[in-house]
Amino acid sequence: MEYIYADNAATTAVSEKALAAMMPYFRDNFGNPSSLHSAGQRANEALLAARETAAKALNADPKEIFFTSGGSEADNQAIVSAAKLGAKKGKKHIVSTAFEHHAVLHTLKKLKKEGYEITLLDVHENGIVTPEQVADAIRDDTCLVTVMFANNEIGTVQPIKEIGAVCREKKVLFHTDAVQAAGHLAIDVKDMNIDMLSLSGHKFRGPKGAGVLYARKGVLLQSLIEGGAQERGKRAGTENLPAIVGMAAALEDAVAHLEENAAKERRIRDMLIDGIGEIAHCALNGDRERRLPGNVNFCFEGIEGESLLLLLDDKGVAASSGSACTSGSLEPSHVLLAIGRPHEVAHGSLRLTIDETLTEEQARYIIDAVKETVSLLRSMSPVWRDLMSGKQQFILK
Ligand SMILES: *Cc1c(COP(=O)(O)O)cnc(C)c1O
Repeated sequence: MEYIYADNAATTAVSEKALAAMMPYFRDNFGNPSSLHSAGQRANEALLAARETAAKALNADPKEIFFTSGGSEADNQAIVSAAKLGAKKGKKHIVSTAFEHHAVLHTLKKLKKEGYEITLLDVHENGIVTPEQVADAIRDDTCLVTVMFANNEIGTVQPIKEIGAVCREKKVLFHTDAVQAAGHLAIDVKDMNIDMLSLSGHKFRGPKGAGVLYARKGVLLQSLIEGGAQERGKRAGTENLPAIVGMAAALEDAVAHLEENAAKERRIRDMLIDGIGEIAHCALNGDRERRLPGNVNFCFEGIEGESLLLLLDDKGVAASSGSACTSGSLEPSHVLLAIGRPHEVAHGSLRLTIDETLTEEQARYIIDAVKETVSLLRSMSPVWRDLMSGKQQFILK
């Protein structure tokens, strides 16, 4: 049986190009970029080249690129840095949204315990915050606005440039978690008024364990890890050079083929949305238009997302019921709750995140598999029986 991987928001396979770029840095060119001998200097040149590639992909300056261990670390460092800068000026209020990744939400929670005040904006039923909401939430003591570029569960894309403009005008630092957007949507940190941005290599066919924190010139970063002077003193530890080189190669490749890949994904995504949308009492989560080219996310009434996902896996389809981080816990997704789905509906969710290689034939297979599995689960569900008999009211049309 063919195995169809439709969980690219959780992680992606390393591309041939990225793998080939990485290989020499494990053995032939294994030097430490901080060493003064020529082996070290060769490694340092590769590090500089990767930094330039990452900068170019974002329209940033290489000096504004800091390599991290991934998206989580970049999010933590960006937020903690802005919070510390704010505290020095007596500004301890942060604006964010209710549906951020846990790397952001849990960092904010920690800061709240340290005396910061956090405003989490409502993301509406369509999963999109408006620049007006951000403008209204900013106060004299606001030190940071952090709003994700695109949501990892429902794929909705935020008006980043406009939110950035509001922050610039009000002189508040603006960070965006662009982990789902990088390599999939065009990003220009200058044009979009972004002060800090996080991305992660393994979400665009780079290896796991490498990410970038972009920090605009003049934004002082706080280091989370103390030690050597790597990353201009902002991130100690010998650089994960193979992963950094692989990430840079993957990013360059993804940006070069961005439009072409997005067009392919959008066509198949829409096929999946139309096909799966034929199921009774289901609903697409997140705005239909303003969403990532590869994201499909539905709620089905009367079933458990976890059972759906496991049965789909038996049929050779790798999907997700939310984000990889919350699956395994019995809590419904905070993202689905944030867009107003009631608990019982939020439990019956399915996320398919495709890449450009998914074919029309595979999409048809997925649609049939989802339809069959939803019917099967409903036929065994006591909740579904109550809904059908009228004992309980349907929430979804
Ligand atoms: C995956 C993801 C992260 C975490 O990135 P890691 O590199 O896995 O630490 C953060 N934010 C979003 C939106 C993500 O999708």
